[in-house]
Amino acid sequence: MAVKAKHEKGKVKLPIYLDYQSTTPVDPRVMAAMLPFFTEKFGNAHSRTHAFGWEAEAAVEKAREQIARTIGADAKEIVFTSGATEANNLAIKGVARFYKSKKRHLVTCRTEHKCVLESVRDLEKEGFDATFLDVGADGLIDLNALRAAITEQTALVSIMTVNNEIGVVQPVEAIGAICREKGVPFHTDAAQAVGKIPFDVAAANVGLASLSGHKIYGPKGIGALYVRRRPRLRLEPLFSGGGQEGGLRSGTLPTALCVGLGEALAIAGSEREAEAAKLLDLRTRLLDGLRAELAGVTVNGALDARIPGNLNLSFAGINSETLMMELRDLALSTGSACSSESLEPSYVLEALGVDAAMARASIRIGIGRFTTVDEIDHAVSAFAEKVAKLRRAGAPASVAAG
Ligand SMILES: *Cc1c(COP(=O)(O)O)cnc(C)c1O
Repeated sequence: MAVKAKHEKGKVKLPIYLDYQSTTPVDPRVMAAMLPFFTEKFGNAHSRTHAFGWEAEAAVEKAREQIARTIGADAKEIVFTSGATEANNLAIKGVARFYKSKKRHLVTCRTEHKCVLESVRDLEKEGFDATFLDVGADGLIDLNALRAAITEQTALVSIMTVNNEIGVVQPVEAIGAICREKGVPFHTDAAQAVGKIPFDVAAANVGLASLSGHKIYGPKGIGALYVRRRPRLRLEPLFSGGGQEGGLRSGTLPTALCVGLGEALAIAGSEREAEAAKLLDLRTRLLDGLRAELAGVTVNGALDARIPGNLNLSFAGINSETLMMELRDLALSTGSACSSESLEPSYVLEALGVDAAMARASIRIGIGRFTTVDEIDHAVSAFAEKVAKLRRAGAPASVAAG
């Protein structure tokens, strides 16, 4: 019996999911809350003439309250979108276009998510100027550089709270204070932040904040934009249509997805601290385990200013694509999911000043709500074995063809 128990303990279901920054599973509690709204409670939340519509509307408004409460906002300040990509587009293009006759400059940073960088690039084509702030080796912006970049012409500062590749947390309260002093609205992409670190729109003087359901154990295809009402921030909508969401986002709300986002945020709000402590223990176990087994393991970006569930590591002398092929039992990624088809080294690591060889040797490990100690231990032994094997074989030369 003792032997069997020992064997059972080490048993894990393969493959092991270690890519929680790319997406997360829907929490079963979120799923349970959503289900009735696909079938019996199918009404259109915008139908004002019957009970089916009222029922859906009540569910959507409850979700809006749950979202607002978790980030310290008022329900009237929450606009549902299809995700953080749309929320970022709406915030950045919406503010810039609304104020374009007065202000023509934007400030962001080089390590933002592609959807922020591309929104700013689109605005450059429309005649806006943009400053892309550098980051240090820690992944953080320099507050003096931010202060210096803001001019009379600046319509918006957009700096993410938590980076999706390296998990580092920007000093958003200090950024918000600078923006307040300069009288410039502050937008933050908080898709990776909510539920992982304390996040309060008032504390950080945030005017606009983007959220995503599927990064926080909610469904894919839903997100939200927080838009401050006092003092009021005005934006131009992206879509023409029926004028839902206070005219900011036309289209019928997906009731079940809204309910899922609300439930996911309510859970994130109430369980954040306990979850963070658990994830930090797992991450420490992982990093200590890897360093005990392997030399040449470096952490990309600040370890001490990072969400608990992220590690971005480079393994000296290794090509990460080759390593991931060897580690088929582990679901890992290099950098972001959106650019992982390309073999180009990550622009985020490049911005940190990581050299090309070490950037190609990098792997992002995302730990989350359903990760277990046994999975971490399995991952440590798998990494130890495969990295050592590839180093013995002098792997980098053999992968030139990709
Ligand atoms: C995932 C992610 C996005 C995109 O969110 P979607 O809801 O998938 O559109 C934007 N920003 C960050 C930081 C992300 O991690």
